[in-house]
Amino acid sequence: TQGAFELTYASMYQPPQELHDAFESALKTFAADGAQEHPLWIAGKPVHTEERLDKRSPADLDTTIGRFSVASLRDADAAMAAATGAARSWGLTPWRERVAIIRRAQQRIQARMYEIAVAVSREVGKNRVEALAEVAEVVDFCKIYCAQMEAHEGFDRVLPSDPVPGMHLTNRSVMRPYGVWVVIAPFNYPFALAAGPSLAALVAGNAVVLKGSLATPWSGVLLAECLHEAGVPAGVFNNIVGDGPGIGAALVTDDRTGGVTFTGSHAVGRGILAHQASRFIPRPCITEMGGKNSAIVLPGADLDAAAKGVARSAFGMGGQKCSALSRVFVHEDIADDLIGRVAEFVKTLVIGDPLERGTFAGPLATENGYRNFGRYCEQLAGSARIVMGGHKPDMPRRGQYVANTLAEADASHPLWSQELFCPILLVGRVKSRDEAMQRANAVPYGLTAGFFGAEEDIPWFMDNIEAGVTFANRSLGATTGAWPGYQPFGGWKASGNTGKGLASFYYLPQYMREQSRTIA
Ligand code: GLU
Repeated sequence: TQGAFELTYASMYQPPQELHDAFESALKTFAADGAQEHPLWIAGKPVHTEERLDKRSPADLDTTIGRFSVASLRDADAAMAAATGAARSWGLTPWRERVAIIRRAQQRIQARMYEIAVAVSREVGKNRVEALAEVAEVVDFCKIYCAQMEAHEGFDRVLPSDPVPGMHLTNRSVMRPYGVWVVIAPFNYPFALAAGPSLAALVAGNAVVLKGSLATPWSGVLLAECLHEAGVPAGVFNNIVGDGPGIGAALVTDDRTGGVTFTGSHAVGRGILAHQASRFIPRPCITEMGGKNSAIVLPGADLDAAAKGVARSAFGMGGQKCSALSRVFVHEDIADDLIGRVAEFVKTLVIGDPLERGTFAGPLATENGYRNFGRYCEQLAGSARIVMGGHKPDMPRRGQYVANTLAEADASHPLWSQELFCPILLVGRVKSRDEAMQRANAVPYGLTAGFFGAEEDIPWFMDNIEAGVTFANRSLGATTGAWPGYQPFGGWKASGNTGKGLASFYYLPQYMREQSRTIA
């Protein structure tokens, strides 16, 4: 059944039996082989390095899921050199040919989607549906970028001749690539957030050096395989894995880099922006940097829908989404009712082995996140009313499992303003919608936001909330689950510097620079 079923947006919300069957058969075929060696990809070839990482399963720390090559500074330099060498001819390749290659990549990804999803689920610990959704998102990124190139004729425009008497001038505006684009991907969406920016950069004519997270080294290898199977020329796409302070910084500060897309923490993103700002030759830099997302629930809301939307967004993938909900402001008249319903619904959400059917949330992906969760719980224990969770549950295996945690805290509690990246949701009671809005906007971040209430309040919410992605009355997720082509995904304020959402109409042109061409 491998590849027989085409993933669609709808299938993510109501997974058909076919999807489960195909996933389970892939699970058998791609049984975890802890001894398997996974290379970097540099200059069109797999490269095995001296330094290896034995990647442990976050769901079972006693199991190794593979041995991964880790880049040294020399490898990063080789990747940069390969990309630099390949960039010119790739940039001059007719855009229709680039589109044809990306379409073939889409087919390769579609053909291997269950295998990729198994790898994603194993390395990050997200459930099978979320893992498949990542792959489906990437299929859609391919479709969208190719369609945008076609709709705009490669962004190549003929302009009128200027009115100089006796002289005919042909004028054109041509969008050309920057050269080498560095993509730094986060651990939480190791396939989608590596591929999303990389595919945009590639179709626009840039060569790419992708640096994936050490926590999730597998997805980038599979992306590199699919791209090379599709015929991406050697050196046009390079994948290395390494630490941020060493390898990431080397790529970002390299003079051969023409542009950067970074997805990750605010602290690192700001450092990258500061470096770009101080360069003699400025270059584009797209940073997507986290959130502290809120939902507002007012009288008039369907509280059942609100409870589901809130719980799904706060606790899906253990809260490890930039889009995760971490603050809910609810009118005091309906607060007890909402809290009760959220708690009831959360009881139905299964925490366990991410590969099992029916699991809602697996373990946390990183050791660091797991440690932080413990610290936040200690912090809450003395200073908040814990409605549920607040501890690490006993599980049959030694994984990084945590409990969904709901707590009521005073407005002055420090956790109201800090991004936590784990399943902790704070509830605040408010007396009016204006108080809710004031508190929702009182953080530097502005990525996603949700609203549950009367229809006539929706314009007020969307006009006043400071966030790049907004949802109203959405039980599927109050703040999460934006999908390429349907909900452009980009942050405002401290969450993102460009205000242009992933895969939106405005996104792809950021990877190109305009050249005016006049011939007399
Ligand atoms: N696109 C995902 C969503 O809307 C989130 C991606 C992220 O966490 O960066 O839930």
